[in-house]
Amino acid sequence: MPHVSGPHSDDTIAAISTPMGEGGIGIVRLSGSDSIAIAARIFKSATGRSLNDGGRPVFYGEVVDADGTPIDEVLVHLMSQPHSYTREDVVEINAHGGPGPVRAILDRVMSEGARLAQPGEFTQRAFLNGRIDLVQAEAVIDRIRARTRTALKAADAAARGTLSREITQASATLVGALSRIEAAVDFPEEDLPDLVDEPLKNSIIETAATLNALLATADAGRLLREGASVAIIGRPNVGKSSLFNTLVRDARAIVTAQPGTTRDVLEETITIEGVPVLLSDTAGLRDADDEVERIGVERARTAAREADVVLLVIDATEGAVAEEQTLARSVAETDTPILLVINKIDAAPDSSAPDWNINFTETCRVSAVNESGLSELERAIANVIMGDAGIDIGRGLITRAHQRDSLRRACDALASLTSEFERSPEFLSIDLREAIACLGEITGETTPDHILEQIFANFCIGK
Ligand code: GDP
Repeated sequence: MPHVSGPHSDDTIAAISTPMGEGGIGIVRLSGSDSIAIAARIFKSATGRSLNDGGRPVFYGEVVDADGTPIDEVLVHLMSQPHSYTREDVVEINAHGGPGPVRAILDRVMSEGARLAQPGEFTQRAFLNGRIDLVQAEAVIDRIRARTRTALKAADAAARGTLSREITQASATLVGALSRIEAAVDFPEEDLPDLVDEPLKNSIIETAATLNALLATADAGRLLREGASVAIIGRPNVGKSSLFNTLVRDARAIVTAQPGTTRDVLEETITIEGVPVLLSDTAGLRDADDEVERIGVERARTAAREADVVLLVIDATEGAVAEEQTLARSVAETDTPILLVINKIDAAPDSSAPDWNINFTETCRVSAVNESGLSELERAIANVIMGDAGIDIGRGLITRAHQRDSLRRACDALASLTSEFERSPEFLSIDLREAIACLGEITGETTPDHILEQIFANFCIGK
Protein backbone atom coordinates (compact mmCIF):
# COMPACT_ATOMS: atom_id res chain seq x y z
CA MET A 1 0.00 0.00 0.00
CA PRO A 2 1.56 3.32 -1.01
CA HIS A 3 2.06 5.72 1.83
CA VAL A 4 3.06 8.93 0.17
CA SER A 5 3.39 12.28 1.82
CA GLY A 6 3.26 14.06 -1.52
CA PRO A 7 3.61 17.77 -2.14
CA HIS A 8 -0.07 18.35 -1.52
CA SER A 9 -0.35 16.33 1.65
CA ASP A 10 0.72 19.28 3.79
CA ASP A 11 -1.77 21.84 2.61
CA THR A 12 -5.40 22.01 3.56
CA ILE A 13 -7.89 21.58 0.74
CA ALA A 14 -11.49 22.72 0.53
CA ALA A 15 -14.40 22.21 -1.85
CA ILE A 16 -18.14 22.40 -2.09
CA SER A 17 -19.10 18.73 -1.73
CA THR A 18 -22.77 18.97 -2.66
CA PRO A 19 -24.16 19.72 -6.14
CA MET A 20 -24.44 23.37 -7.11
CA GLY A 21 -28.13 23.99 -6.93
CA GLU A 22 -30.86 24.55 -4.42
CA GLY A 23 -31.31 21.93 -1.75
CA GLY A 24 -31.88 21.40 1.95
CA ILE A 25 -28.21 21.61 2.83
CA GLY A 26 -24.97 22.42 1.09
CA ILE A 27 -21.66 21.17 2.42
CA VAL A 28 -18.22 22.75 2.29
CA ARG A 29 -15.56 20.22 3.18
CA LEU A 30 -12.02 20.79 4.38
CA SER A 31 -9.22 18.27 4.78
CA GLY A 32 -5.70 18.77 6.06
CA SER A 33 -3.75 19.67 9.14
CA ASP A 34 -5.08 23.25 9.26
CA SER A 35 -8.71 22.46 8.67
CA ILE A 36 -9.83 22.72 12.29
CA ALA A 37 -7.81 25.92 12.84
CA ILE A 38 -9.28 27.47 9.68
CA ALA A 39 -12.82 26.48 10.68
CA ALA A 40 -12.24 27.93 14.16
CA ARG A 41 -11.30 31.31 12.63
CA ILE A 42 -14.53 31.63 10.61
CA PHE A 43 -17.02 29.99 12.97
CA LYS A 44 -18.92 31.53 15.84
CA SER A 45 -20.57 28.96 18.05
CA ALA A 46 -24.08 29.74 19.30
CA THR A 47 -23.13 28.57 22.79
CA GLY A 48 -19.60 29.88 22.86
CA ARG A 49 -18.07 26.38 22.61
CA SER A 50 -14.64 26.22 21.03
CA LEU A 51 -14.04 23.82 18.14
CA ASN A 52 -11.09 22.53 20.12
CA ASP A 53 -12.94 21.62 23.32
CA GLY A 54 -12.72 17.87 22.63
CA GLY A 55 -16.40 17.26 23.35
CA ARG A 56 -19.12 16.30 20.93
CA PRO A 57 -17.83 16.77 17.38
CA VAL A 58 -20.90 18.67 16.15
CA PHE A 59 -21.19 22.42 16.62
CA TYR A 60 -24.03 24.79 15.93
CA GLY A 61 -23.52 28.45 15.11
CA GLU A 62 -22.66 30.68 12.18
CA VAL A 63 -19.92 31.33 9.71
CA VAL A 64 -18.85 34.94 9.96
CA ASP A 65 -16.84 37.33 7.85
CA ALA A 66 -13.47 38.67 8.97
CA ASP A 67 -15.28 41.65 10.53
CA GLY A 68 -17.79 39.39 12.32
CA THR A 69 -20.68 39.87 9.88
CA PRO A 70 -22.76 36.66 9.75
CA ILE A 71 -22.63 34.75 6.44
CA ASP A 72 -24.84 31.72 7.16
CA GLU A 73 -26.24 29.62 9.98
CA VAL A 74 -24.38 26.29 9.99
CA LEU A 75 -23.67 22.95 11.63
CA VAL A 76 -19.99 22.04 11.77
CA HIS A 77 -18.82 18.41 11.95
CA LEU A 78 -15.26 17.68 13.01
CA MET A 79 -13.61 14.37 12.13
CA SER A 80 -10.15 14.15 13.64
CA GLN A 81 -7.40 12.21 11.91
CA PRO A 82 -7.08 9.32 11.39
CA HIS A 83 -10.80 8.65 11.80
CA SER A 84 -11.94 10.46 8.69
CA TYR A 85 -12.51 9.94 4.99
CA THR A 86 -9.00 11.11 4.11
CA ARG A 87 -7.29 10.05 7.36
CA GLU A 88 -6.54 13.75 7.87
CA ASP A 89 -8.44 16.25 10.00
CA VAL A 90 -11.69 16.82 8.13
CA VAL A 91 -14.26 19.53 8.77
CA GLU A 92 -17.66 19.58 7.11
CA ILE A 93 -19.60 22.79 7.25
CA ASN A 94 -23.31 22.18 6.65
CA ALA A 95 -24.85 25.36 5.37
CA HIS A 96 -28.07 26.23 3.61
CA GLY A 97 -28.16 24.48 0.27
CA GLY A 98 -27.80 27.17 -2.35
CA PRO A 99 -24.95 28.51 -4.45
CA GLY A 100 -24.84 31.75 -2.42
CA PRO A 101 -24.12 30.36 1.05
CA VAL A 102 -21.74 27.59 -0.02
CA ARG A 103 -19.73 29.86 -2.34
CA ALA A 104 -19.43 32.52 0.36
CA ILE A 105 -18.23 29.91 2.86
CA LEU A 106 -15.77 28.43 0.37
CA ASP A 107 -14.36 31.92 -0.30
CA ARG A 108 -14.09 32.46 3.42
CA VAL A 109 -12.11 29.25 4.11
CA MET A 110 -9.85 30.02 1.17
CA SER A 111 -9.16 33.51 2.49
CA GLU A 112 -8.03 31.79 5.68
CA GLY A 113 -5.50 29.62 3.84
CA ALA A 114 -7.29 26.60 2.40
CA ARG A 115 -6.61 25.67 -1.22
CA LEU A 116 -9.36 24.70 -3.68
CA ALA A 117 -9.37 20.91 -4.01
CA GLN A 118 -8.83 19.23 -7.36
CA PRO A 119 -11.55 16.82 -8.55
CA GLY A 120 -11.29 13.62 -6.52
CA GLU A 121 -8.58 15.01 -4.27
CA PHE A 122 -10.26 13.96 -1.02
CA THR A 123 -10.47 10.38 -2.27
CA GLN A 124 -6.95 10.63 -3.64
CA ARG A 125 -5.76 11.53 -0.15
CA ALA A 126 -7.65 8.58 1.31
CA PHE A 127 -5.74 6.45 -1.20
CA LEU A 128 -2.35 8.09 -0.69
CA ASN A 129 -2.76 7.88 3.07
CA GLY A 130 -3.41 4.14 2.76
CA ARG A 131 -6.99 4.05 3.98
CA ILE A 132 -8.27 2.54 0.74
CA ASP A 133 -6.60 1.00 -2.28
CA LEU A 134 -7.16 2.04 -5.88
CA VAL A 135 -9.95 -0.47 -6.51
CA GLN A 136 -11.83 0.94 -3.53
CA ALA A 137 -11.14 4.53 -4.60
CA GLU A 138 -12.61 3.85 -8.03
CA ALA A 139 -15.58 2.11 -6.46
CA VAL A 140 -16.39 5.40 -4.70
CA ILE A 141 -17.19 7.01 -8.04
CA ASP A 142 -18.99 3.87 -9.21
CA ARG A 143 -21.22 4.17 -6.17
CA ILE A 144 -21.98 7.80 -6.92
CA ARG A 145 -22.79 7.02 -10.54
CA ALA A 146 -24.63 3.73 -9.98
CA ARG A 147 -27.91 3.93 -11.85
CA THR A 148 -29.45 0.70 -10.61
CA ARG A 149 -29.44 -1.37 -7.45
CA THR A 150 -27.44 -4.05 -9.24
CA ALA A 151 -24.77 -1.54 -10.24
CA LEU A 152 -24.75 -0.23 -6.67
CA LYS A 153 -24.29 -3.75 -5.31
CA ALA A 154 -21.26 -4.30 -7.53
CA ALA A 155 -19.77 -0.94 -6.53
CA ASP A 156 -20.44 -1.68 -2.88
CA ALA A 157 -18.58 -5.01 -3.06
CA ALA A 158 -15.60 -3.24 -4.60
CA ALA A 159 -15.74 -0.36 -2.11
CA ARG A 160 -15.76 -2.76 0.84
CA GLY A 161 -12.62 -4.41 -0.45
CA THR A 162 -14.10 -7.72 -1.58
CA LEU A 163 -12.59 -7.34 -5.03
CA SER A 164 -9.29 -6.04 -3.65
CA ARG A 165 -9.00 -9.04 -1.32
CA GLU A 166 -9.39 -11.41 -4.23
CA ILE A 167 -6.60 -9.63 -6.09
CA THR A 168 -4.27 -9.24 -3.10
CA GLN A 169 -4.73 -12.90 -2.16
CA ALA A 170 -3.82 -13.93 -5.69
CA SER A 171 -0.83 -11.62 -5.54
CA ALA A 172 0.28 -13.01 -2.16
CA THR A 173 0.18 -16.56 -3.55
CA LEU A 174 2.31 -15.48 -6.49
CA VAL A 175 4.77 -13.65 -4.24
CA GLY A 176 5.12 -16.84 -2.17
CA ALA A 177 5.76 -18.83 -5.36
CA LEU A 178 8.26 -16.25 -6.54
CA SER A 179 10.32 -16.50 -3.38
CA ARG A 180 10.46 -20.30 -3.76
CA ILE A 181 11.44 -20.08 -7.40
CA GLU A 182 14.01 -17.37 -6.81
CA ALA A 183 15.58 -19.58 -4.19
CA ALA A 184 16.23 -21.92 -7.09
CA VAL A 185 17.94 -19.08 -8.94
CA ASP A 186 20.06 -18.21 -5.93
CA PHE A 187 20.98 -21.80 -5.13
CA PRO A 188 21.19 -23.46 -8.52
CA GLU A 189 22.79 -26.58 -7.07
CA GLU A 190 19.52 -27.31 -5.26
CA ASP A 191 17.32 -29.87 -6.93
CA LEU A 192 14.86 -27.83 -8.99
CA PRO A 193 12.00 -30.35 -9.12
CA ASP A 194 11.81 -30.13 -5.34
CA LEU A 195 11.48 -26.40 -5.41
CA VAL A 196 8.83 -26.21 -8.13
CA ASP A 197 6.79 -29.07 -6.78
CA GLU A 198 3.22 -30.10 -7.50
CA PRO A 199 1.58 -28.06 -4.70
CA LEU A 200 3.41 -24.96 -5.90
CA LYS A 201 2.36 -25.57 -9.50
CA ASN A 202 -1.21 -26.19 -8.41
CA SER A 203 -1.37 -23.01 -6.38
CA ILE A 204 -0.24 -21.03 -9.44
CA ILE A 205 -2.72 -22.84 -11.69
CA GLU A 206 -5.54 -22.16 -9.22
CA THR A 207 -4.57 -18.51 -8.98
CA ALA A 208 -4.55 -18.22 -12.76
CA ALA A 209 -8.06 -19.74 -12.84
CA THR A 210 -9.32 -17.26 -10.23
CA LEU A 211 -7.89 -14.33 -12.16
CA ASN A 212 -9.30 -15.59 -15.46
CA ALA A 213 -12.73 -15.84 -13.84
CA LEU A 214 -12.35 -12.27 -12.65
CA LEU A 215 -11.32 -11.16 -16.14
CA ALA A 216 -14.49 -12.78 -17.47
CA THR A 217 -16.55 -10.28 -15.44
CA ALA A 218 -15.08 -7.31 -17.30
CA ASP A 219 -17.72 -7.03 -20.03
CA ALA A 220 -20.58 -7.22 -17.58
CA GLY A 221 -18.77 -4.83 -15.23
CA ARG A 222 -18.30 -2.21 -17.90
CA LEU A 223 -21.89 -2.48 -19.11
CA LEU A 224 -23.22 -2.33 -15.56
CA ARG A 225 -21.21 0.82 -14.91
CA GLU A 226 -21.72 2.58 -18.22
CA GLY A 227 -25.06 1.12 -19.26
CA ALA A 228 -25.50 -1.15 -22.25
CA SER A 229 -26.74 0.28 -25.51
CA VAL A 230 -29.50 -1.77 -27.06
CA ALA A 231 -30.58 -0.84 -30.60
CA ILE A 232 -33.95 -1.78 -32.05
CA ILE A 233 -33.59 -2.40 -35.77
CA GLY A 234 -35.98 -3.55 -38.46
CA ARG A 235 -38.02 -2.66 -41.51
CA PRO A 236 -40.69 0.02 -41.26
CA ASN A 237 -43.95 -1.05 -39.60
CA VAL A 238 -42.69 -4.23 -37.96
CA GLY A 239 -43.43 -2.61 -34.60
CA LYS A 240 -40.10 -1.11 -33.49
CA SER A 241 -41.63 1.99 -31.94
CA SER A 242 -44.35 -0.07 -30.30
CA LEU A 243 -41.74 -2.37 -28.80
CA PHE A 244 -39.64 0.59 -27.69
CA ASN A 245 -42.62 2.14 -25.93
CA THR A 246 -43.66 -1.16 -24.34
CA LEU A 247 -40.15 -1.82 -22.99
CA VAL A 248 -39.89 1.71 -21.65
CA ARG A 249 -43.30 1.48 -20.01
CA ASP A 250 -42.51 -1.90 -18.49
CA ALA A 251 -39.15 -0.78 -17.09
CA ARG A 252 -39.46 -0.54 -13.34
CA ALA A 253 -37.31 2.56 -13.30
CA ILE A 254 -36.74 5.08 -16.00
CA VAL A 255 -33.31 6.34 -15.20
CA THR A 256 -33.47 9.61 -17.08
CA ALA A 257 -36.61 11.65 -16.95
CA GLN A 258 -36.36 13.09 -20.45
CA PRO A 259 -36.24 10.93 -23.54
CA GLY A 260 -33.07 11.95 -25.35
CA THR A 261 -33.74 12.45 -29.02
CA THR A 262 -31.12 12.84 -31.64
CA ARG A 263 -32.01 13.69 -35.20
CA ASP A 264 -33.37 10.33 -36.12
CA VAL A 265 -32.92 8.10 -33.11
CA LEU A 266 -35.20 8.01 -30.11
CA GLU A 267 -33.38 7.04 -26.92
CA GLU A 268 -34.35 6.30 -23.35
CA THR A 269 -32.31 5.00 -20.43
CA ILE A 270 -34.17 2.27 -18.59
CA THR A 271 -33.44 -0.60 -16.24
CA ILE A 272 -33.79 -4.14 -17.47
CA GLU A 273 -33.32 -6.72 -14.69
CA GLY A 274 -31.06 -4.34 -12.79
CA VAL A 275 -28.93 -3.48 -15.79
CA PRO A 276 -28.93 0.12 -17.01
CA VAL A 277 -29.84 0.09 -20.68
CA LEU A 278 -29.77 2.87 -23.22
CA LEU A 279 -32.54 1.76 -25.55
CA SER A 280 -32.63 3.29 -29.00
CA ASP A 281 -35.20 3.06 -31.73
CA THR A 282 -33.79 3.72 -35.14
CA ALA A 283 -37.03 5.45 -36.04
CA GLY A 284 -35.40 7.41 -38.83
CA LEU A 285 -35.09 4.27 -40.89
CA ARG A 286 -38.69 4.51 -41.91
CA ASP A 287 -38.89 7.69 -43.96
CA ALA A 288 -36.64 7.22 -46.96
CA ASP A 289 -38.10 6.64 -50.43
CA ASP A 290 -35.26 4.94 -52.22
CA GLU A 291 -35.46 1.17 -51.81
CA VAL A 292 -31.96 0.60 -50.43
CA GLU A 293 -32.34 3.48 -48.00
CA ARG A 294 -35.81 2.31 -47.09
CA ILE A 295 -34.44 -0.95 -45.80
CA GLY A 296 -31.80 1.14 -44.13
CA VAL A 297 -29.08 -1.48 -44.36
CA GLU A 298 -26.17 0.88 -43.91
CA ARG A 299 -27.74 2.74 -41.07
CA ALA A 300 -28.79 -0.46 -39.37
CA ARG A 301 -25.24 -1.73 -39.63
CA THR A 302 -23.91 1.47 -38.15
CA ALA A 303 -26.43 1.30 -35.32
CA ALA A 304 -25.52 -2.36 -34.75
CA ARG A 305 -21.81 -1.63 -34.70
CA GLU A 306 -22.29 1.03 -32.05
CA ALA A 307 -24.64 -1.06 -29.93
CA ASP A 308 -23.87 -3.72 -27.34
CA VAL A 309 -26.99 -5.69 -28.26
CA VAL A 310 -29.27 -5.54 -31.30
CA LEU A 311 -32.95 -6.35 -31.29
CA LEU A 312 -33.76 -7.24 -34.88
CA VAL A 313 -37.52 -7.00 -35.14
CA ILE A 314 -39.54 -8.79 -37.80
CA ASP A 315 -43.28 -8.98 -38.32
CA ALA A 316 -44.91 -12.36 -37.66
CA THR A 317 -47.89 -11.49 -39.87
CA GLU A 318 -45.71 -11.00 -42.93
CA GLY A 319 -43.41 -13.98 -42.66
CA ALA A 320 -39.79 -13.67 -43.64
CA VAL A 321 -39.32 -11.04 -46.31
CA ALA A 322 -36.34 -11.30 -48.66
CA GLU A 323 -35.11 -7.75 -48.02
CA GLU A 324 -35.31 -8.51 -44.32
CA GLN A 325 -32.94 -11.41 -44.75
CA THR A 326 -30.49 -9.06 -46.46
CA LEU A 327 -30.79 -6.69 -43.54
CA ALA A 328 -30.37 -9.51 -41.00
CA ARG A 329 -27.33 -10.88 -42.79
CA SER A 330 -25.56 -7.55 -42.95
CA VAL A 331 -26.31 -6.79 -39.30
CA ALA A 332 -25.02 -10.26 -38.35
CA GLU A 333 -21.67 -9.36 -39.91
CA THR A 334 -21.05 -6.73 -37.23
CA ASP A 335 -20.37 -9.31 -34.47
CA THR A 336 -22.78 -7.54 -32.13
CA PRO A 337 -25.06 -10.10 -30.43
CA ILE A 338 -28.46 -10.13 -32.11
CA LEU A 339 -31.74 -11.12 -30.57
CA LEU A 340 -34.28 -11.91 -33.27
CA VAL A 341 -37.60 -10.51 -32.10
CA ILE A 342 -40.63 -11.91 -33.88
CA ASN A 343 -43.29 -9.32 -33.14
CA LYS A 344 -47.09 -9.30 -33.51
CA ILE A 345 -47.52 -12.93 -32.44
CA ASP A 346 -50.97 -11.95 -31.15
CA ALA A 347 -52.01 -11.58 -34.80
CA ALA A 348 -50.07 -14.59 -36.09
CA PRO A 349 -49.71 -17.07 -33.23
CA ASP A 350 -48.58 -19.93 -35.48
CA SER A 351 -45.86 -18.11 -37.38
CA SER A 352 -42.50 -19.87 -37.43
CA ALA A 353 -39.01 -18.47 -37.18
CA PRO A 354 -37.45 -17.68 -40.57
CA ASP A 355 -35.06 -20.18 -42.01
CA TRP A 356 -32.17 -17.81 -42.71
CA ASN A 357 -29.21 -19.80 -41.47
CA ILE A 358 -28.03 -16.89 -39.35
CA ASN A 359 -26.74 -17.41 -35.82
CA PHE A 360 -28.96 -15.30 -33.60
CA THR A 361 -28.07 -15.23 -29.93
CA GLU A 362 -31.68 -16.00 -29.19
CA THR A 363 -35.09 -15.82 -30.86
CA CYS A 364 -37.93 -14.24 -28.90
CA ARG A 365 -41.58 -14.24 -29.89
CA VAL A 366 -43.40 -11.21 -28.55
CA SER A 367 -46.37 -8.97 -28.95
CA ALA A 368 -45.61 -5.33 -28.38
CA VAL A 369 -49.34 -4.77 -28.15
CA ASN A 370 -50.44 -7.32 -25.54
CA GLU A 371 -46.96 -7.66 -24.01
CA SER A 372 -46.76 -11.43 -24.30
CA GLY A 373 -43.16 -12.69 -24.38
CA LEU A 374 -41.93 -9.41 -22.97
CA SER A 375 -40.38 -10.74 -19.79
CA GLU A 376 -38.61 -13.49 -21.76
CA LEU A 377 -37.23 -10.81 -24.05
CA GLU A 378 -36.05 -8.75 -21.08
CA ARG A 379 -34.41 -11.81 -19.55
CA ALA A 380 -32.68 -12.52 -22.86
CA ILE A 381 -31.39 -8.93 -23.07
CA ALA A 382 -30.06 -9.09 -19.49
CA ASN A 383 -28.44 -12.47 -20.19
CA VAL A 384 -26.58 -11.15 -23.22
CA ILE A 385 -25.30 -8.20 -21.20
CA MET A 386 -24.42 -9.93 -17.95
CA GLY A 387 -23.55 -13.28 -19.50
CA ASP A 388 -25.82 -16.14 -18.52
CA ALA A 389 -22.96 -17.88 -16.68
CA GLY A 390 -24.28 -16.29 -13.49
CA ILE A 391 -21.72 -13.74 -12.42
CA ASP A 392 -21.63 -13.24 -8.65
CA ILE A 393 -22.07 -9.48 -8.37
CA GLY A 394 -21.52 -9.61 -4.61
CA ARG A 395 -17.87 -10.47 -5.28
CA GLY A 396 -17.38 -7.32 -7.30
CA LEU A 397 -16.70 -6.96 -10.99
CA ILE A 398 -13.90 -5.61 -13.10
CA THR A 399 -15.45 -2.39 -14.35
CA ARG A 400 -12.69 -0.36 -15.98
CA ALA A 401 -10.58 -0.61 -19.08
CA HIS A 402 -7.29 -0.14 -17.22
CA GLN A 403 -8.23 -2.87 -14.72
CA ARG A 404 -9.11 -5.22 -17.55
CA ASP A 405 -5.87 -4.42 -19.36
CA SER A 406 -3.71 -5.09 -16.31
CA LEU A 407 -5.62 -8.24 -15.42
CA ARG A 408 -5.32 -9.55 -18.97
CA ARG A 409 -1.54 -9.02 -18.88
CA ALA A 410 -1.38 -10.82 -15.53
CA CYS A 411 -3.36 -13.74 -16.97
CA ASP A 412 -1.16 -13.83 -20.09
CA ALA A 413 1.96 -13.96 -17.94
CA LEU A 414 0.51 -16.81 -15.88
CA ALA A 415 -0.58 -18.64 -19.02
CA SER A 416 2.99 -18.43 -20.27
CA LEU A 417 4.24 -19.66 -16.90
CA THR A 418 1.87 -22.59 -16.53
CA SER A 419 2.31 -23.70 -20.14
CA GLU A 420 5.95 -24.52 -19.47
CA PHE A 421 6.84 -25.15 -15.85
CA GLU A 422 9.93 -27.03 -16.88
CA ARG A 423 11.86 -23.95 -17.95
CA SER A 424 14.76 -22.60 -15.95
CA PRO A 425 13.70 -20.72 -12.81
CA GLU A 426 14.94 -17.39 -14.25
CA PHE A 427 12.23 -17.56 -16.91
CA LEU A 428 9.56 -18.63 -14.46
CA SER A 429 10.39 -15.72 -12.21
CA ILE A 430 10.12 -13.22 -15.10
CA ASP A 431 6.51 -14.31 -15.71
CA LEU A 432 5.68 -14.29 -12.03
CA ARG A 433 7.12 -10.82 -11.54
CA GLU A 434 5.15 -9.55 -14.51
CA ALA A 435 1.89 -11.01 -13.14
CA ILE A 436 2.53 -9.56 -9.66
CA ALA A 437 3.30 -6.12 -11.10
CA CYS A 438 0.12 -6.17 -13.19
CA LEU A 439 -2.00 -7.01 -10.14
CA GLY A 440 -0.30 -4.15 -8.29
CA GLU A 441 -1.41 -1.77 -11.03
CA ILE A 442 -5.02 -2.64 -10.26
CA THR A 443 -4.77 -2.12 -6.51
CA GLY A 444 -2.62 0.97 -6.94
CA GLU A 445 0.69 -0.28 -5.59
CA THR A 446 2.48 -0.07 -8.93
CA THR A 447 0.11 2.12 -10.93
CA PRO A 448 1.97 4.66 -13.06
CA ASP A 449 1.42 8.26 -11.96
CA HIS A 450 -0.19 9.39 -15.21
CA ILE A 451 -2.85 6.68 -14.86
CA LEU A 452 -3.49 7.69 -11.25
CA GLU A 453 -3.90 11.30 -12.34
CA GLN A 454 -6.39 10.31 -15.04
CA ILE A 455 -8.38 8.22 -12.60
CA PHE A 456 -8.79 10.94 -10.01
CA ALA A 457 -9.35 13.66 -12.62
CA ASN A 458 -12.55 11.84 -13.57
CA PHE A 459 -14.00 12.30 -10.10
CA CYS A 460 -16.34 15.08 -9.22
CA ILE A 461 -15.19 18.16 -7.34
CA GLY A 462 -15.56 17.76 -3.60
CA LYS A 463 -15.26 13.94 -3.49
P1 GDP B 1 -42.19 0.70 -36.69
O1 GDP B 1 -42.36 1.42 -37.98
O2 GDP B 1 -41.34 -0.51 -36.85
O3 GDP B 1 -41.72 1.57 -35.57
O4 GDP B 1 -43.64 0.12 -36.31
P2 GDP B 1 -44.75 0.71 -35.32
O5 GDP B 1 -44.39 0.49 -33.91
O6 GDP B 1 -45.06 2.10 -35.74
O7 GDP B 1 -45.95 -0.26 -35.64
C1 GDP B 1 -46.46 -0.41 -36.95
C2 GDP B 1 -47.87 -0.94 -36.86
O8 GDP B 1 -47.87 -2.24 -36.30
C3 GDP B 1 -48.75 -0.12 -35.96
O9 GDP B 1 -50.04 -0.04 -36.55
C4 GDP B 1 -48.80 -0.90 -34.67
O10 GDP B 1 -50.00 -0.69 -33.95
C5 GDP B 1 -48.72 -2.31 -35.17
N1 GDP B 1 -48.13 -3.19 -34.17
C6 GDP B 1 -46.97 -3.01 -33.50
N2 GDP B 1 -46.72 -4.05 -32.66
C7 GDP B 1 -47.77 -4.89 -32.79
C8 GDP B 1 -48.11 -6.14 -32.17
O11 GDP B 1 -47.43 -6.70 -31.33
N3 GDP B 1 -49.28 -6.72 -32.58
C9 GDP B 1 -50.08 -6.16 -33.51
N4 GDP B 1 -51.20 -6.81 -33.81
N5 GDP B 1 -49.80 -4.98 -34.10
C10 GDP B 1 -48.66 -4.35 -33.76
